Amino acid sequence: MKYYSTNKQSPIVDFKEATINGQAPDKGLYFPEAIPQIEKELIENIDKFSNEEIAFRVIKPYVGNTITDEKLFQIVSETVNFPIPLVKVNENISSLELFHGPTLAFKDIGARFMSRCLGHFVKDDSRTVTVLVATSGDTGGAVANGFYDVEGVEVVILYPSGKVSPVQEKQLTTLGKNIKAFEVEGTFDDCQQMVKQAFTDKDVTDKLFITSANSINVARWLPQQFYYFFAYKQWINSPIGDGGNTPVISVPSGNFGNICAGILAMQSGLPVKHFIAACNANDIVTGYLQTEQLQPKQAIATLSNAMDVGNPSNFVRILEIFQHQFPELKSKLSSYSISDAETVAIIKEVYQKESYVLDPHGAVGYLALQHYLKENTGQKGMVLETAHPVKFPDAVENCIGRSIEIPEAVQSIMSKEKQSIQMKADYQQFKAYLIT
Ligand SMILES: *Cc1c(COP(=O)(O)O)cnc(C)c1O
Repeated sequence: MKYYSTNKQSPIVDFKEATINGQAPDKGLYFPEAIPQIEKELIENIDKFSNEEIAFRVIKPYVGNTITDEKLFQIVSETVNFPIPLVKVNENISSLELFHGPTLAFKDIGARFMSRCLGHFVKDDSRTVTVLVATSGDTGGAVANGFYDVEGVEVVILYPSGKVSPVQEKQLTTLGKNIKAFEVEGTFDDCQQMVKQAFTDKDVTDKLFITSANSINVARWLPQQFYYFFAYKQWINSPIGDGGNTPVISVPSGNFGNICAGILAMQSGLPVKHFIAACNANDIVTGYLQTEQLQPKQAIATLSNAMDVGNPSNFVRILEIFQHQFPELKSKLSSYSISDAETVAIIKEVYQKESYVLDPHGAVGYLALQHYLKENTGQKGMVLETAHPVKFPDAVENCIGRSIEIPEAVQSIMSKEKQSIQMKADYQQFKAYLIT
């Protein structure tokens, strides 16, 4: 498989080069030259395949011969080695729980796959790769965990002091080894700005081999298709999927990488009735579907803060999938914008009625799906629950009136000591740390 840049001004590359580059030199996003078709045999007999086999078959055409089959199978097996259950919430709605990985967020899948691919690609390089990442909470944890102890890779994370939740902070700061966390007196935008500046600073790039691990990297984007297939496998085997109905899938969206992977899976042959882009107050795509105009805005802070994105970078890939045909796109994708007040209300309601605890991101997805199912009766759907509610305790505990138990997987880190380098939002200070 070859990849071109959506800006069409960069050379065509293979999977290895696309992974190492992250973004194309012309600032476009890499996109596959063709969308591979999944064998009918896999879809029709999906329950006879293990998750590892499904993941391998889905990703193989994208990786081509840049990784041997044996190594690729090992990578996908390590990527998907935790449960991803489809849980029935009520007669019409199920929840695909993507939060059972090491950092309790769906980003674990992409980060685990990417880190292993990158580690494999640079292993014969004498240089150490430094992965720079700014985080508002979830990304940093998943990336740090994915790259932990990967040989030849150093990870540098910047996060805004006091602006991530306690569980998130522990996930960023207690690993040690090849993971360094900078606690910045400032906002997420300050962190992001310093990372961007480092990438364009010749003193830094001469001295360090730096790369990013953000969600536009193909090695983070493409493996997100896996769980759409795992969901379908469980859907057709449950009473909810009886009678051959295919699911409506609602995806809480920020940068639109997750939903774009789902749409790609559908275009490859996965049966999906319709996609819903569930947005918070950051409603750029909701507006686009009404007006056909994409108008980036300043991000607005909300309860579902991992979706506070004013200019979703992966949306261009969705346009590319539909070859910029608006009617085609509109027939497969709807979008709703959900306010914080509605988010709080639906968390309460679903807890009271169904005894199911949603996190604020999943709650946005749930309500958007409920709206759609009301307008399109007779259909059923699933929401992607992208994070464990314990990562957003302030919002959720207020709604449900009790505390949320910390899952065993993260209990051990809560007692570990935080190790961070505290600094001002000052690029020169950061640069000095990086290159001396
Ligand atoms: C990152 C994130 C999202 C948004 O995913 P995109 O792929 O950027 O659209 C949604 N929910 C949670 C919990 C996240 O961490």
